[in-house]
Amino acid sequence: MDRYVVIGNPIAHSQSPFIHQAFAEQTGQDMKYERLLAPLDSFESSLRDFVEAGGQGCNVTVPFKTDALAVAGELSERATLAEAVNTLKLLPDGRLFADNTDGAGLVMDLHRLGVALAGRRILLLGAGGAARGVIAPLLTEQPATLVVANRTERRAEILSNRFAGLGPVSHQPLDALEGAFDLIINSTSASLQGEQLALPASLCHSGTQVYDMMYGREETPFLQWAAEQGVQDRFDGLGMLVGQAAESFYLWRGVRPDMAPVLQALRARLEQAL
Ligand code: NDP
Repeated sequence: MDRYVVIGNPIAHSQSPFIHQAFAEQTGQDMKYERLLAPLDSFESSLRDFVEAGGQGCNVTVPFKTDALAVAGELSERATLAEAVNTLKLLPDGRLFADNTDGAGLVMDLHRLGVALAGRRILLLGAGGAARGVIAPLLTEQPATLVVANRTERRAEILSNRFAGLGPVSHQPLDALEGAFDLIINSTSASLQGEQLALPASLCHSGTQVYDMMYGREETPFLQWAAEQGVQDRFDGLGMLVGQAAESFYLWRGVRPDMAPVLQALRARLEQAL
């Protein structure tokens, strides 16, 4: 039986085994998917041990997404642009192919939700690893503009410069945001710490939609802020999690799973755990 893992530290909270086992059952794939806790200083040796024991591929999560760049024998264009890897696949010649499916997962989920991207004014809050992974896939959808705003403005500036050749991307300081947006995506980890971003009401108009990459709570502080501004369409990042997993699964198995029933089951599972 082919073996896969998600490698991280910590890893106990990861929902990836549930998602991939569900994909495997749905598509009739004979495979096993587990969690692998790697010591903080031993990502490479943990990965090597797994591959030597017959592992075929893995997901990589916090804090190893950058470390995984170094083990790549071959790097996808989207992982190169993101400077981060969340998926590794063992190639027949023994090298590891490294990819980043986070951005594809986000775009897949926005499509599923019926959120239009072409011709729209998009604001991306945050300039960390998650933001790096989604900028190129968002620009591919041809928005009117993509503004990156970050607490440390220099990081947003670096990202907007790096991706400038791919589309209309610019940056603004998080504490002096101007303009109204059709879609606001939160990729900061502020919600993770239960913190509220200080955002002006003027960012929203009557048709603004919002998406928080964080998931697991009924309404994150960012989604609560949007509700207070009268925003009707508020989405969390659970669908992005299932979407990026579906893209990894496709890379490994060559089969595209149906994400909708798995997302529904995962949502029910998380609600039970609350
Ligand atoms: P990083 O640590 O790489 O980046 C964190 C970002 O959040 C930085 O831009 C940082 O700004 C900003 N930030 C943190 N705290 C605050 C605050 N109090 N106020 C303003 N800005 C803040 O994290 P990631 O990019 O890897 O992850 C970000 C979020 O995205 C997490 O919540 C994660 O769970 C989620 N995520 C969800 C995925 C999904 O599938 N749904 C996939 C990947 C990530 P600064 O640069 O100034 O420090």
